[in-house]
Amino acid sequence: MADKSLPFTLAQLEAIASQVPTPFHLYDEAAMVANARAFYQAFSWVPGGFINHYAVKALPNPYILEALKKAGLGGDCSSLAELQLCEAVGIKGQDIMFTSNDTPAYEFQKAYELGAIINLDDISHIAFLEKSLGGKLPDMLCFRYNPGPLKEGNAIIGKPEEAKYGFTRAQLFEGYRLLRDRGVKRFGLHTMVASNELNPDYFVGTAEMLFELVVELNRELGIRFEYLNLGGGIGIPYRPNQTAVDLAALGGRIKAVYDRTIGAAGLGPIRIAMECGRMITGPYGYLVSHVLHKKAIYKNYVGLDACMANLMRPGMYGSYHHITVPGKENGPKKVYDVTGSLCENNDKFAVDREISDPAIGDLLVIHDTGAHGHAMGFNYNGKLRSAEVLWQGGSKFKVIRRAETLADHFATLDYPGLG
Ligand SMILES: *Cc1c(COP(=O)(O)O)cnc(C)c1O
Repeated sequence: MADKSLPFTLAQLEAIASQVPTPFHLYDEAAMVANARAFYQAFSWVPGGFINHYAVKALPNPYILEALKKAGLGGDCSSLAELQLCEAVGIKGQDIMFTSNDTPAYEFQKAYELGAIINLDDISHIAFLEKSLGGKLPDMLCFRYNPGPLKEGNAIIGKPEEAKYGFTRAQLFEGYRLLRDRGVKRFGLHTMVASNELNPDYFVGTAEMLFELVVELNRELGIRFEYLNLGGGIGIPYRPNQTAVDLAALGGRIKAVYDRTIGAAGLGPIRIAMECGRMITGPYGYLVSHVLHKKAIYKNYVGLDACMANLMRPGMYGSYHHITVPGKENGPKKVYDVTGSLCENNDKFAVDREISDPAIGDLLVIHDTGAHGHAMGFNYNGKLRSAEVLWQGGSKFKVIRRAETLADHFATLDYPGLG
């Protein structure tokens, strides 16, 4: 299988690893920002303006959010911590999308305080929100639509009718009518029905579904929508034989749908939003580790100083993450299971994978860890969460999160001799 290239040289990587102990996640700042800008370019036609609320959960580091904010991105949050991260970097007001589902009152209160767009997950949450805010509703409200059997899901997110999220179609009509009759004048509509999807038809279909629905809601209820969010879920090519979604082509196809629905009905301008996380940062993160051990029993193993606590996706979902042994790309290949050190047999980054045959002590790079990598980390077996490093080209880099220490790990225990 073809290799995937790395943006940095082995010498550059060795220089970083000589100062920051492995494992660590390394992020290519310029590539993330360039990708975000290309996404905006593809939707620059939107008459009411385009925004991507970056799904903060994918890489919740304020230095990354700050860089993305400079490229025009907002934040998509669903917890207090994520709201605070946006607040800290100055992502404000309606550039924040707060998508609730099983949400406590204090999170609604914080979202309201920041002026975020509040996206409700259920018709009963209108009353809950009102109570949480001491008897008032925000000027603007958005509902999440779950099309159920009207739309096919995809592998990661599953079938919409099995998903816990959102309003049914009938509840949308009922919910907006209720808001209208309460005097609410500003409306948004959201859906999120795919995850890690590489087929652009899927997103064109989602846009068509939402745009037509808005035309119908307008006709039936006489309300005007100012905000439409098509969700996130644009996938990335984890495997070397996959291709990224052509964003410019996608933008053009969605424009055609817009023109023949919202445009033709004279309902614009409407701000169009997406909330992609994975696609923005995923391909530009790398988990850097050293080969600690090799063993040959019934199979051949390469053991790393990183483990599933640093990157859970392969162990949890069997996800493919490409592996490169930098400097040995063209060397001899061999089939290995590439493992971490947890007392869990699914702590494997790859199973039966042909990789360049590494030596003990070599650097080994796991690709596409810029989304749901460090963020999904955990501390099972007392493993510590790694540092995060921003690579700024050439020999420039910045540690944007230090590695955890045992003192951090034991900090919540009040026990003599620990911490
Ligand atoms: C996770 C999530 C996203 C982002 O999904 P990506 O696959 O990272 O694009 C967007 N919106 C909601 C509501 C989510 O839960």
